[in-house]
Amino acid sequence: MTKTTASTCCYCGVGCGVLIEHDNERILGVSGDPQHPANLGRLCSKGSTLHQTGDLAARALFPELRLGKGLARSRTDWETAMGHAAQVFGQAIAEHGPDSVAFYISGQLLTEDYYAFNKLARALVGTNNIDSNSRLCMSSAVVGYKRSLGADAPPCSYEDIETSDCLLIAGSNMAFAHPVLFRRLEAAKAANPDKRIIVVDPRRTDTCEIADLHLAVQPGTDVALFHGILHILLWEGWVDRRFIDAHTEGFDQLKSLVRDYTPALVSELCGIRVQDLMEAARMIGSAPSFLSLWCMGLNQSSSGSAKNSALINLHLATGQIGKPGSGPFSLTGQPNAMGGRETGSLANLLPGHRDAANAEHQGEVAAYWGVERMPLNPGLSAIELFEAVRAGKIKALWIACTNPAQSLPNQALVHEALAGCPFVVVQEAFATTETCAYADLLLPAASWGEKEGTVTNSERRVSHVRPAVPAPGEARPDWAIVCDLAQRLEKQLRPGQPSLFAFANPAELFDEYKGLTAGRDLDYSGLSHALIDELGPQQWPFPSGAERGTERLYTDGRFPTPDGRARFIAEQFQPPKEKREARFPLLLNTGRLRDQWHGMSRTGTAAQLFGHVEQALISLHPDELRSRKLSEGQLVRVKSRRGSLVLPVQADEQVRPGQAFMPMHWGNRFLKGLGINVLTQPEFDPLSKQPELKQAAINLQPV
Ligand code: SF4
Repeated sequence: MTKTTASTCCYCGVGCGVLIEHDNERILGVSGDPQHPANLGRLCSKGSTLHQTGDLAARALFPELRLGKGLARSRTDWETAMGHAAQVFGQAIAEHGPDSVAFYISGQLLTEDYYAFNKLARALVGTNNIDSNSRLCMSSAVVGYKRSLGADAPPCSYEDIETSDCLLIAGSNMAFAHPVLFRRLEAAKAANPDKRIIVVDPRRTDTCEIADLHLAVQPGTDVALFHGILHILLWEGWVDRRFIDAHTEGFDQLKSLVRDYTPALVSELCGIRVQDLMEAARMIGSAPSFLSLWCMGLNQSSSGSAKNSALINLHLATGQIGKPGSGPFSLTGQPNAMGGRETGSLANLLPGHRDAANAEHQGEVAAYWGVERMPLNPGLSAIELFEAVRAGKIKALWIACTNPAQSLPNQALVHEALAGCPFVVVQEAFATTETCAYADLLLPAASWGEKEGTVTNSERRVSHVRPAVPAPGEARPDWAIVCDLAQRLEKQLRPGQPSLFAFANPAELFDEYKGLTAGRDLDYSGLSHALIDELGPQQWPFPSGAERGTERLYTDGRFPTPDGRARFIAEQFQPPKEKREARFPLLLNTGRLRDQWHGMSRTGTAAQLFGHVEQALISLHPDELRSRKLSEGQLVRVKSRRGSLVLPVQADEQVRPGQAFMPMHWGNRFLKGLGINVLTQPEFDPLSKQPELKQAAINLQPV
């Protein structure tokens, strides 16, 4: 008999509700949940084909272990696998200290999984070496929100996309990356053609089809653009002096900095017309409400933090925050990057939006967990972590639910690091990922439709992820694998003491974790799995005793800073690290395809999802092809300072002359060599440590 289980899509940060049709054994179909506030029944091509991605041939089904680097892994049982892992990790900690081990986890994990990993690393092992692939995704937005507004909290709701009078979409091909939200925006624009939409993107992406104004800026010049817009807002008197005086600090310093960002200079830096810049400022300055949406185009940058803050400056200067249709709204890439930030799953964070370097925060978390103290050494962020692995400083590395051998920049060094690491554990649902090739121990994990927990989407909405069918083979839920390791390590590291990891199910993990949010900006101490089931998905804060979630933050003009005021951040524009030059005359931009997700671990198993784009291609403007005497489909060798790969070229009018575009998805399963990220660069933002995956200088030659 067919049954239906309500759950949540496992791909992007929109966090759509899905209804899973199943017969208790197999998932038979998926449809959009009309009751879920994020999508109201809609699904995109990825979400609606989730049931086609269950190919067992691609799954990790049993633990596999090898006892030497040159050997093949062979099947083992969980007892042997976990006993061996605990022994190797325990030995590394005993011989080389807690910072000789590290955990690299994922924005695909559920909040309960994240929490278990954090407690394991911080409370038991005693290291801050726990970072996640969210470092590649949202860490610049974290810095932007924290230093400008006082907390890592997107203040808006999806509804604001529909009600806003003016939207600025910067560095986001929302039509492909957040398709259901884009459909909501399209419908709102159709209903209200006076709604103004500005898209800032070096490419003329599909998102630009809805734009009243497309600013095709030179890659990486967003800070100059935002300062230039503020310059005009000031000149025209379109700033909100009352809001600035009542609710902010630092405006005078910013005002004197943006004085130099004249329309003529910004036009030259950004490669756009002065009248288009003026028009963008007019749209923003004259709109009753103003919302900005952004994604990787701002975040994946060596000045990602500055870009985030420069955009937030525009909202503070115009008072366009804390009211319907207004505010700075980062679109989260991954399904639960927000949950990761909440539980402290970046090396510099602690649970409950706390900082790992803050002594007061350390004390609060240590007291809550009943341990003596939190680790004091700074943890390694993603790029630093893999550099440390390559340098031999990490003796045992645990990777969960992510594929760094495809997704990190400068792949040649990542592969070298993984090959040389003495012990690599990969906890993964799909055995086909590039990273699995380096696993000394492969642990099969349950996946979407098979496991339970919660996720937080871009609008701070916490949804219940429910299982519909059993996990295949011997796969286990991620939280259970972590607690198993922790309980074995406790015998070595805390002998005779009560276990910190005696959790029977994800609801118990949630209930312990939520206590760490109490009294914090994200307080969701009033929520539980059962309450979400009763009320539906809820937006935090949802403190104890609340009857419903909070749709909009800062409505009273108070911000979670010590004095309650938001901060203007005054920073000069810095160009991207790599520039075009004679040897590398093209600037490569990377981004998403409509129907693929990240490294294609899951979407790469569904034939239908190759219908839109079949193979990896590099796109150039037709004029570039003509001037290089290249024809469509011709194979070219693309080279950056870090490596090269061979693939066909295609003409694409979306790409400006002097630039090139490649989708981010293709790893070495689909391309000869090390995949697209053999080309991309590891230079990172000094504050967020997010690498500049978006820009690299390249050349190409016919082969
Ligand atoms: Fe899933 Fe995102 Fe598509 Fe919604 S928009 S169905 S969350 S991939």
